[in-house]
Amino acid sequence: MTGGAGFIGSHLVDRLMELDCDVTVLDDFSTGEWANLVRWRDASTLHVVKGSVCDSKVVEEAVRDTSIVFHLAAIVSVPASVERPREVLDTNVMGTATVLDACRIHDVERVVVASSSAVYGDPARLPIDESIPVAPISPYAVSKLAQEHLVASFERTYGLSGVALRYFNVYGPRQQPGGYAGVISIFTEQALSGRSLTIEGDGEQTRDFVYVEDVVTATLLASVSQTEPGEVFNVGTGRALSINGLAQHIISLTGGQSSTVHVDPRVGDIRHSVASIDRASERLGFTPSVDIVTGLRRTIDWMRQQHAARE
Ligand code: NAD
Repeated sequence: MTGGAGFIGSHLVDRLMELDCDVTVLDDFSTGEWANLVRWRDASTLHVVKGSVCDSKVVEEAVRDTSIVFHLAAIVSVPASVERPREVLDTNVMGTATVLDACRIHDVERVVVASSSAVYGDPARLPIDESIPVAPISPYAVSKLAQEHLVASFERTYGLSGVALRYFNVYGPRQQPGGYAGVISIFTEQALSGRSLTIEGDGEQTRDFVYVEDVVTATLLASVSQTEPGEVFNVGTGRALSINGLAQHIISLTGGQSSTVHVDPRVGDIRHSVASIDRASERLGFTPSVDIVTGLRRTIDWMRQQHAARE
């Protein structure tokens, strides 16, 4: 697995280890953390390689004798991609080409690649199903779309079986405040430190927040399901929540003391995003199981522990 020390990747590691799999993680630890894997520090079946997905030798070594590869490593930041497009495209696109090429050379049976709802840009209709034309805006979104095309190309050209998943707004423990789609960790951090929650714009914009363990479930299902070359799947909940609604949930779950303040809208922010998950449901058998209040409660508990440890 690439990116296994990161937010989503480390939850995937947890699930695979719980299933008694032998797991190799390749991560450069640019945003990933050893602390995310500490639970498995004495496990002989977890192998951690520190290196880049752009380094073909390291990647080939990591995928050798592997049957399934999960490719999650990426620079996951829209603002970073706007400031440093070449670097983000290098890592996300060339890194993916390097991973797929290593999989081809070493006869990997199946590759699952993490794409993003960002490929849709500002969608023409809601809910967003996979047939809506893609219209990526940022270089990050373009890099995710390029990853999808590379997966399809390697399947059609070399017969490498692969699938790309369009994750919507993933949240849960280990997500760092300030990261991409990190509004939940930002709001929670603000609420736990007794500050006001800063809502960008009028707060009536909506998102599809999906709990990280449901994303892990969808990712595992995709690794064992039959799909067509080039097929992509949305991974969300199918439910829209406004930023105002989210703020109210977090305020009440953290004790009800915080207020909200509205600041300037984020430039280029899309108004509404909610997934249709019919395809993932029908073809992968995916059903999200963690409702927003349960997911928020778990996330807040984890952030409280982080807070307490810092004080
Ligand atoms: P993350 O930053 O926590 O994880 C990314 C991991 O990749 C980190 O561990 C980082 O150290 C590693 N990495 C970065 N560059 C690398 C390189 N050159 N070589 C090796 N490792 C490298 O982010 P995340 O939220 O866990 O995202 C995981 C995947 O899911 C990404 O591909 C991202 O695009 C996708 N995604 C995430 C979300 C979300 O809401 N978090 C939404 C859509 C898609």
